[in-house]
This record gives sequence, C-alpha cells and structure tokens, in this order.
Amino acid sequence: MYSMRRWSAKHANKLHHLYSGVESTLYKAAPLLEKIGYDKLEKPFMAVEKVTKGLLFDSQSCGQCTLGSTGMSCPMNCPKTIRNGPCGGVRPNGKCEVKPDMDCVWVVAWEGTQNMPPKEQAIHIVQPALDSRKKGTSAWLREVRLKRQEKAKANASQ
Ligand code: SF4
Repeated sequence: MYSMRRWSAKHANKLHHLYSGVESTLYKAAPLLEKIGYDKLEKPFMAVEKVTKGLLFDSQSCGQCTLGSTGMSCPMNCPKTIRNGPCGGVRPNGKCEVKPDMDCVWVVAWEGTQNMPPKEQAIHIVQPALDSRKKGTSAWLREVRLKRQEKAKANASQ
C-alpha cells in the first residue's frame, strides 16, 4: 500500500527487528519445515508474505528480498526496478522522474536506513542482479534454505 511506504521507513528499525525475528523463528523451525517439504509450504508462505509485505512495503514479491538493506523500502517499486541506488533523475523534491506523484524509492530507502542502526551501512551492500525466475516465490523460505545450506557446508568442511 503506497500510503504505508513512508510509515514503514519511519519505523524501519522496529520492522527490521520484527522481520529478522520471523526469519530467525523460521530458521529454528527448519527441521520441521524440511519434514513437511518446502514445495508444499511454498504456496501458503507466499500467500502470507504477499499480504503482510504487500501491506507494509508495497512488496512486489520478487522473491529476493532486500528490505533489510534498503531501509525497509522495496526497490521493486522503482519503475526502473533499480536495486543499487537511485537513477540520475530524482527530482529536487525527492519525487520519481518517471512517476512525479511518487516518492523515489531510494529517497525513502535512505530515510529508512537512517532509522536503522548501524546507520548507512547495509545500504552500501551491492545487490546481485534480479533473478526473475524467483518472482512470486517465498523469500522467507529461500533465506531459511540458504542458511541451512551454508551451515551444512561449514559443518562438512570442519
Ligand atoms: S527517480 Fe527513483 S524511483 Fe524513480 S526511476 Fe529513478 S531511482 Fe527509480
């Protein structure tokens, strides 16, 4: 919901904590999730993510969430879908050059980052190119699977 974007950036710190809490709870529940099967969980998880993240961040469900690095502002709302900072056309009033009625998502991202400690750090992380094959899939489940794989790799190399 567009009207929620600035609110979410203003409350980026609390929302980031909440978001991280959800991810960490899911990570703890990973053995159970694996037992049920990620494929079976994909649809219900995506439905929950679509509603909650759609309401709070106008999330476009790209499946590769960067909210924690972008001040809780979804970069997929940028008409050019730029994931690493603003284009050169941001208007002097902070509005988007393509959609003059919309705040540039990167202006909102910067404001959100100022509300998240450590200030100005995560926004400097260079995001990989968007993989459009992941659109419409659960970013939460992907994160859990990724962390589990990393842990298994680390255990195997010990
Ligand atoms: S002004 Fe901001 S939101 Fe608009 S196209 Fe450029 S980077 Fe994207």
